[in-house]
Amino acid sequence: MKHCPKCKAVYTDNYETCEHCERVLVNDLKGVAFVGTLVSVYKGTDKNSIEFVKELLAESGISCIVKEANPARTFDKDRDCIEILVKEKDCKKAKTVLKQDEGA
Ligand SMILES: [Zn+2]
Repeated sequence: MKHCPKCKAVYTDNYETCEHCERVLVNDLKGVAFVGTLVSVYKGTDKNSIEFVKELLAESGISCIVKEANPARTFDKDRDCIEILVKEKDCKKAKTVLKQDEGA
């Protein structure tokens, strides 16, 4: 779901702009607007690692979305990990940043 940052109207993901105010709709996830394909660059269940990855990406100027695990299934740790998504065009850069960190 997306919503208009101005009038708060809610739209399905098929819409890009608000029909009332022509503002670009923002995603419900963290309120960040993303257009195009999102790619998963990290998966994990450890909140500290997630925060760390987020910081690394932010330092490199890559905006990301954190897709939280489904709260109703938090005990199913293998499947309900937290995912970090970036724009497709940032994917390669993000992976490079994360790989550099692993090697350090
Ligand atoms: Zn609107």
